[in-house]
Amino acid sequence: MRSAVNFAAGPAVLPQEVLRTAQQELLDYRGSGMSVMEISHRSLLFEEIIAAAEQSLRQLMNVPDDYAVLFLQGGATSQFAMVPLNLFGRNKTADYVDTGSFSQKAIAEARRFGQVNIVASSEKQGFASIPDIDRQLCDPHADYFHITMNNTIFGTHFATVPDTGIVPLVADVSSCILAQEIDVSRFGLLYAGAQKNIGPAGLTVVILRKNLLGKCLPSTPTMLNYATHEAKKSLFNTPPCFAIYMAGLVFNWVHSQGGVTAMEARNRQKAELLYEYLDNSSLFRGKARPRDRSLTNITFFLPDEDMLREFLALAEADRLHGLKGHRSVGGLRASLYNAMPVTGAERLVDLMRRFEKERF
Ligand SMILES: *Cc1c(COP(=O)(O)O)cnc(C)c1O
Repeated sequence: MRSAVNFAAGPAVLPQEVLRTAQQELLDYRGSGMSVMEISHRSLLFEEIIAAAEQSLRQLMNVPDDYAVLFLQGGATSQFAMVPLNLFGRNKTADYVDTGSFSQKAIAEARRFGQVNIVASSEKQGFASIPDIDRQLCDPHADYFHITMNNTIFGTHFATVPDTGIVPLVADVSSCILAQEIDVSRFGLLYAGAQKNIGPAGLTVVILRKNLLGKCLPSTPTMLNYATHEAKKSLFNTPPCFAIYMAGLVFNWVHSQGGVTAMEARNRQKAELLYEYLDNSSLFRGKARPRDRSLTNITFFLPDEDMLREFLALAEADRLHGLKGHRSVGGLRASLYNAMPVTGAERLVDLMRRFEKERF
């Protein structure tokens, strides 16, 4: 039987090598006689795991020394609230770019804590594009400027990082972290849920410039304050130990593959295979504006629901899973994160080609 390919947007595919290592170490982590799930988060063994994971991520992303790397819980969704709680301490006002559902969720949450200005939106374009961001749009008094770097649901991304001048740029990078090079120094804060490109669900990574600490609203709960976690090296309370261990294995795997540069090259190759086919197909259609197309989440459509059902059934039979588009947009979506092999994208394009041929 052909191997299964998982195109799901998240939780998503993990590298086989990582799963195998986790399996080998599951019952007896490094001679401890225990699983990582069972050892104390205060043990030397776990301290080594979390310190090594942080170090590995810092190297992969070239995180400057004046940035903290935090391993938190609560998903990217909790960051929609933690970002304003922690950064609204000065003017209680922020600029947001609305590029789709996750942006809108972030906006709605920030509005609970202060003034939010939507400085640009692609809603009128059905979120098929990314608005141009002129520095003139930014309020110099805003506490921060927020973007959703890669729009997992609509399949668009910011191909260039907006210039926000002195205003700290905050980005939700849940579905593009480690998939493409990101110049951390251009941002005040980056956040990502792990289940797209880092590891299992349950872990949330936050990278922030340390001079943004200490600007929280006075009512910020201790657990939601970045400073709490920075001071305790992400060990203020029990962290998601096993997810951090898995993330560490994934970071090491990315290193072994040649780092983020190599990942990005491979991701471009996979995305190009699909986009090139879509651009030339008379049956399948992409919607996203070419210059704004995501590297990791490729969205596309068939002319009607019957054909969509038929194609999805064929894909399942071919062991190509998770291709159904998000319920809010319909159609199809192929998520091509780091752990998706090139052969996965090739098998999908091959099936699309056969499907189209049978109809024309
Ligand atoms: C998946 C996703 C989220 C939501 O993440 P959770 O970890 O489920 O809270 C937010 N933003 C983006 C860009 C995402 O891809």
